Amino acid sequence: MSEKSALAAKALRIHQLLLNYYGEPQLKPQRDPLSELIMTILSQNTADVNSHRAYQNLRQRFPRWEDLLTADIEKIAEAIHIGGLANVKARRIQAILRQLYEEHGNLDLRFLADLPLEEARRYLLSLAGVGPKTAACVLLFSLQRPVLPVDTHVHRVARRLGLIPPKASREKAHLLLEELLPPETYYPFHLNMIRHGRTLCKAGQPQCARCPLAPECDFLNLSQTAAPATGVSRISRPSSQSHPT
Ligand code: SF4
Repeated sequence: MSEKSALAAKALRIHQLLLNYYGEPQLKPQRDPLSELIMTILSQNTADVNSHRAYQNLRQRFPRWEDLLTADIEKIAEAIHIGGLANVKARRIQAILRQLYEEHGNLDLRFLADLPLEEARRYLLSLAGVGPKTAACVLLFSLQRPVLPVDTHVHRVARRLGLIPPKASREKAHLLLEELLPPETYYPFHLNMIRHGRTLCKAGQPQCARCPLAPECDFLNLSQTAAPATGVSRISRPSSQSHPT
């Protein structure tokens, strides 16, 4: 078996362990792609509860996206204040809406559903302030296109498990993980990796002793191998050597 096939088999075993432990989340698209894009921008660097409230406030204050084209930045920032980085996000959202309106004469991203996947991804990445994760969220969550969003949790856990190289950037991780796993696994894998990163494989203090992925984890196996020589415990070692997020 080639190295690549072995890694793909390992990724599938990890996916199955995650399903056994966390269950299988079902993808239920809730928003059109433009609304999903704005929701994703609001979710940057804040907790879900705050970004959802920011989104609701924004929709209450500006019921049509067209209303944001000429709105004062201060008013937009006021509406999304609870989500943090309000001025930055307000400018970003207005800039995207203006770009979209200039290019298409309307505020609708549903045309992305008919484009080849990479073309749709490239278009989203061409919008000011949209990176690979945001583009992937829109394509997967709203349009059910086969892409795998990599946030800070997916990135950290995938590196610890050895699914991607320790120095792989978050941008590169999107393509590496998409190559490893079959498309039908992208949504549940993404969601379960985030759950795992939030609950057990935390950045500072991973709970390796309780981890269902322990048999597959490079980081833990290396820690155990090194522990007798260094005297570093299995649990404490990751906090001192965790990869930056
Ligand atoms: S064994 Fe530890 S480092 Fe590895 S995935 Fe589990 S919690 Fe994370």
